[in-house]
Amino acid sequence: MNYDVIISGGGLLGLITAIGLSNDSVSVAVIEKNNLPHVIDDNRAFAISQGSKKILEKLGIWQFVESEAEPIFDICILDGNSPITVHYNHKMVGAEPMGYIINNVIIWNAINNNFLSKLNIYFPRSYKTIACDSGCVEVTLDNNQQSISSLLICAEGKNSKLPELFSMPVMKFDYRQSSIVFNVEHELHHQNLAVEWFFPGGPLAILPMKGGYASSIVWTERSEISKMLMNLPEEEFIIELKKRFGSYFGEIKLEGERKSYPLSFAFAKRLHKSRVLLIGDAAHSIHPVAGQGLNLGIRDVESVIRQITAARASGVDIGSSYLLKKISRDRYFDNFTMALATDGLDRIFSNRIFCTKALRNFGLIVVENSDFLKKYLIRHAMGLR
Ligand SMILES: Cc1cc2nc3c(=O)[nH]c(=O)nc-3n(C[C@H](O)[C@H](O)[C@H](O)COP(=O)(O)OP(=O)(O)OC[C@H]3O[C@@H](n4cnc5c(N)ncnc54)[C@H](O)[C@@H]3O)c2cc1C
Repeated sequence: MNYDVIISGGGLLGLITAIGLSNDSVSVAVIEKNNLPHVIDDNRAFAISQGSKKILEKLGIWQFVESEAEPIFDICILDGNSPITVHYNHKMVGAEPMGYIINNVIIWNAINNNFLSKLNIYFPRSYKTIACDSGCVEVTLDNNQQSISSLLICAEGKNSKLPELFSMPVMKFDYRQSSIVFNVEHELHHQNLAVEWFFPGGPLAILPMKGGYASSIVWTERSEISKMLMNLPEEEFIIELKKRFGSYFGEIKLEGERKSYPLSFAFAKRLHKSRVLLIGDAAHSIHPVAGQGLNLGIRDVESVIRQITAARASGVDIGSSYLLKKISRDRYFDNFTMALATDGLDRIFSNRIFCTKALRNFGLIVVENSDFLKKYLIRHAMGLR
């Protein structure tokens, strides 16, 4: 079969790219190694920035999740037991919320029920060989089926082997931390406030969920502590959690399962080679400290769709190194600064050295008292440039 674009990886970003390109009459095939629709059992919720919402709206996806998206009006940053806090209020930059919390299941249901049947998807399949020449990419699947396209987009997530296969250098390291993700029901209303609470082992994020009396928690700790916490019975886990939470929400109750995600960093030094382009976590897997990984990937997707559509309209080869360089240039600064900022935040706040502690307290005071800095940081977190 011949396609304009083949996407390897049918996770959220691979499928959103396929939906967007198909909307613009670009012929697309997706290769996914697992069965689809994915069975979602991870209890996760995503923080979706205002900028991502606008992109998903344009792609015709947002309307299917909107009614289940809980707005974030304020964000509060806390540093352990320090009384110094930074409070961001959405009204500083406009009337719209700073972002939304959406359950993973809601996003997947929207895609499964409204788009999956319209896409050309090969599953459960992976590539056996990929051959690129100056005119096309030839992909042979593990069942020996062959497809040809002008461009191969790699959306295989952080463990993709494709960069290695194409000798694309990727900077990688292990954070030696894991995030435990779970939901809690609580006595007091969350007031649509998202909290990032920094502790020496890592941040604890409290994300407001639909209804007002439930929150999604992302509790990051050093790997060995996370392992221990995961093995605790529910009652003891709640006791440990309350040591961090205090009486913040009144009485709290665990809702559903806990799931643990080991954290690692990966950053591709170049996003393209031959006719292959990396997007999403295959290009940049960042620390979840600010809930920005998917948002960054959604901005990759926007750039890819915009530039491929424009190139096609003007007769430019969509797998040409000219176009792939253009997309890479468009994405590099945003990807690099977000990877650096999230990594830096985790390092600065996990540091117990007195001077660093004093410096970060000073930093928090400066931010809390500077409307200019606050507005800049809010706009950045909202994905608005
Ligand atoms: C604890 C935690 C909390 C997070 N919270 C947030 C948040 O609140 N907001 C936010 O913006 N981001 C968040 N993130 C980041 C976000 O989860 C990721 O950035 C995002 O899911 C990456 O999507 P992806 O489609 O690139 O990769 P993936 O979701 O990993 O999808 C990759 C897909 O490719 C398939 N695949 C892999 N290899 C092959 C192959 N060889 N052939 C075919 N298919 C293949 C896989 O089966 C999978 O379906 C969080 C991350 C973590 C760990």
